[in-house]
Amino acid sequence: CGIIGILGNHQAAPIMVDALKRLEYRGYDSAGIATVHDDRLERRRAVGKLVNLADLLVSEPLAGRAGIGHTRWATHGAVTEGNAHPHRSGRVAVVHNGIIENFQELRAELDGPWESQTDTETIVRLCEHYLAAGKSPREAAFATIDRLRGAYALCFLFEGEPDLLICGRQGPPLAIGHGQGEMYVGSDAIALSGLTDRVTYLEDGDRAVVTRAGAQIFDAAGHQVGREIRRVSVEA
Ligand code: GLU
Repeated sequence: CGIIGILGNHQAAPIMVDALKRLEYRGYDSAGIATVHDDRLERRRAVGKLVNLADLLVSEPLAGRAGIGHTRWATHGAVTEGNAHPHRSGRVAVVHNGIIENFQELRAELDGPWESQTDTETIVRLCEHYLAAGKSPREAAFATIDRLRGAYALCFLFEGEPDLLICGRQGPPLAIGHGQGEMYVGSDAIALSGLTDRVTYLEDGDRAVVTRAGAQIFDAAGHQVGREIRRVSVEA
């Protein structure tokens, strides 16, 4: 239900938990984060309030300056840790808001076993399938997004790629935040408040390749597009 992504110069976990707190107003039933540290992808997830995730991060800390985080409002699959985001398959993790309408069809193309009951898991499984076929992270993520039907805002993080987030939206909103040598992705400007006030809103069908140097945005047809950077003011 809420998304945050960070390519920063500081430890991402506490910053992401703060951003998820700002997204609490949307409602949620579980939460999680993933980071890339020393090229390794790792995640922590917890059911219930964000304090449960924060407690878990004290006993099992997660280092890394790049990460993605999520508050989930379950649509497919019960409220369990295994259904909480980020979902992961091999080298790929993703956070997703919305519903993938053709997930049954995509599932039928891929081999089990499945770790969760969510529509979201098909996104990472498909993306990992494309990586295994030799595609780059960007090609694999874009090819995956091309297959999705329904409503989504999503953000991918890849093992071995501490300077890359790939995001896209169709339906639910998604914003890119521009910092000083740092970049962010968030469900809205409120998620990004305190991090940056320079925000680009993705349009429907857009997908973006985000690195610390900036964002390249493409429309649904794959053409690179310019989207305005706006100054927003949000009461934190
Ligand atoms: N459909 C996904 C799930 O049930 C995402 C729900 C959300 O938007 O939080 O896990």
